[in-house]
Amino acid sequence: MTLSSHDRKIILDSIRDIPDFPKPGIVFKDITTLLNNPKALNTLMNHLTERYLSYDLDYIAGIDARGFIFGAILADRLGVGFVPVRKKGKLPYTTVAEKYSLEYGFDEVEIHIDAFGEKEGAKVLLIDDLIATGGTAKAAANLIDKVGAQCVEACFIMELGFLKGREGFTPPVYSVLEID
Ligand code: AMP
Repeated sequence: MTLSSHDRKIILDSIRDIPDFPKPGIVFKDITTLLNNPKALNTLMNHLTERYLSYDLDYIAGIDARGFIFGAILADRLGVGFVPVRKKGKLPYTTVAEKYSLEYGFDEVEIHIDAFGEKEGAKVLLIDDLIATGGTAKAAANLIDKVGAQCVEACFIMELGFLKGREGFTPPVYSVLEID
């Protein structure tokens, strides 16, 4: 289940750094170059599939928008359902919402009230491409809880360790690549 240094390098090398995007001082981690690289994408998805096969998950919940890509592939590989956690105003049915603070102001994520079906305590893996401050993922984990399911782990392709986003996170956090 541990990622070999060879496979880690394949994934890491496929991610592109874009300095000063979307604003000065931010180094944006661009995963489009991972997605269009079949070897890197396959290496990553094989690793995640291997890790989560034994978790007996009921659903994968992916965070808008890059979490949808990895989450949906993984859900299909594991034979479980996929649930989108979306930015406010995008989901058509009845939703439950959670606000979280940004550097300036706040943002809000939503989930369908019936996203995890009838089963109380469904086991859900939360996934996104990157954890920075952790605000988005914590709000998403709270939503899973609010609609009666159980977030058993939060998984990220990358973790910006210096922002300490995993601190104060109730479910276990797994990141494929720690970036300093
Ligand atoms: P946060 O709520 O601070 O943990 O931010 C996480 C969300 O913002 C994720 O959905 C990421 O895709 C995105 N994000 C934050 N920082 C970066 C970055 N440096 N590069 C790419 N995406 C980022």
